[in-house]
Amino acid sequence: MTLDLFSDIENEQSENRKKKIGQADIQYVQSASILTEAKGFMEAYDYTLNPYSGCSFGCNYCYAAFFARSSDERENWGNWLKVKENALQLLIKWRKKHSLTKQST
Ligand code: SF4
Repeated sequence: MTLDLFSDIENEQSENRKKKIGQADIQYVQSASILTEAKGFMEAYDYTLNPYSGCSFGCNYCYAAFFARSSDERENWGNWLKVKENALQLLIKWRKKHSLTKQST
């Protein structure tokens, strides 16, 4: 029921979506996950959350470009941005799953 509400909102929003920000093209993608268990220097936290990938700036000193998934994305860093359009649904799903887990233990 809740997810149906979001699909109505998404349909309405998709007509007014921005296609560009600065020089960067914006893509709206369905993601499989939204939270990543925090490790290394982030281990003080439980998870990191990345609702977007890419960047519209493309700073010369940026190290984030090296984490892009393809050579094309690395070479064009600063010219693309991917919005995980199902981010909220993924968080709701995760929350429901983990609420049930916590209640049963
Ligand atoms: S992610 Fe990289 S290119 Fe984008 S603003 Fe930060 S440092 Fe600059």
